[in-house]
Amino acid sequence: MNIKAIVLLSGGLDSTLVVGLMLQYGIEIEAINFVTPFCTCNRSKGCGHEAGRVVKEFGIQLKVVNVFEEIMEVIKHPKHGYGRGVNPCIDCRILIFKKAKEYMAQTGVSFIVTGEVLGQRPMSQHRRAMEIIEKESGLEGLVLRPLSAKLLKPTIPEEMGWVDREKLLNISGRSRKTQIALAEELHINEYPCAAGGCLLTDAEFAKRMRDLLASTPDPTLNDVQLLKLGRHFRLSETLKVIVARNDEENNRLVNLIEEKDITLQVTNQKGPVAICRGEINREQKLLAASIVARYSDDRGESGIKVNGGLAGEETLFVQPMDVVEIGGLRIQCMNGEKRLQR
Ligand code: SF4
Repeated sequence: MNIKAIVLLSGGLDSTLVVGLMLQYGIEIEAINFVTPFCTCNRSKGCGHEAGRVVKEFGIQLKVVNVFEEIMEVIKHPKHGYGRGVNPCIDCRILIFKKAKEYMAQTGVSFIVTGEVLGQRPMSQHRRAMEIIEKESGLEGLVLRPLSAKLLKPTIPEEMGWVDREKLLNISGRSRKTQIALAEELHINEYPCAAGGCLLTDAEFAKRMRDLLASTPDPTLNDVQLLKLGRHFRLSETLKVIVARNDEENNRLVNLIEEKDITLQVTNQKGPVAICRGEINREQKLLAASIVARYSDDRGESGIKVNGGLAGEETLFVQPMDVVEIGGLRIQCMNGEKRLQR
C-alpha cells in the first residue's frame, strides 16, 4: 500500500522541520497551507510565501487553501472561546483539521502531520485541547505530531507501522533550542518566522476586531485589511475614520479605498490620507477633518480636501481636534499593552 501524508505547513520553523523529518523517514508527503489575513510571519508577502519557499526547497507539492470566510465565522462564534485576544485557537484548529480531512478524502492521503509541540501554545497545544481538536474534526488517531509524538498516545500511523515511533521526538514547551539544533542537523537554514505569529492574539488588533464585529455583522476582507493599518477612530455606531500614520500607510490605505468611502487629505501641507467608512453627516465630516488636521504638519487651521458622498469634492477649513477629544474617539488598547498568546 502506498502511504502518503499531508503536512500542515505554515512555513514557520516547526512545520518546516516536520517536512524534513518525514522525508528523512522515507514517507511520501505533500503540504497544505491555510491562508488567512491574520498571519504575521512575513507582513509584506504573507505566510503563504514562506510555505512556497519551503516546498520549493524540499521539492514537494503544495496545496493552498484560503479560509477567510470560514475563519471569520469561527471568530464571530467560537464554541471554545478566545485566548487573550480574539484568537479562537481551538475552533481555528478544528476548522483547519476539518479542511485538511476534506482534502485527505479527495486525494487518498492516509494521515495528517503537524509541527505542533506539546505545551508550546497555552490555548491549543496542551493535551486536552489536542484531544478535543482531533475528536471534533473527526481525525482521532490520524494526526501525527513528530516533534512531540513520544509524549503523546501512539497514533494510527505508528500502530500500523507506517512510521517508526522510535524515530519520533519528545520535544515539549516553549523553548525552541531543540528545534534550532534539529534545523541545523537537517540543513534547514532559513526560517524567518521561528515563533509564528497571528494578529488575533494581539491585544490592540483584538480591540479593533471587536469594534468591527460590533458595527459590521459581515466584515469583508477589505474591512479586515483596514484593521492592520492607521489610527482608528469611532465617530458613531456606524462610522469609523482611519488615518494613515506615514507615507507607506498612505499608499496602502489608498489601495483599500472603496466606492462607498469618503476620503480626506490635507491640501496646504504634508499630511496623512484618511478614510471615513459608514454613514456620515455634515457635523461628522467636520469632526473627521479636524482629526486629520491634528496629524498634518501644520498645527494651525488646515484645509482638508474631502472626496466622495453626495457633496462630491469640497474643501473644509478646520482647526486640529484637541488631544483629549481625539483620545476619547480612538479605538485602541486602554493600556497600550501588546500580548501574543495562543
Ligand atoms: S494563533 Fe490561534 S487563531 Fe491564530 S492561527 Fe493559530 S490557532 Fe488560529
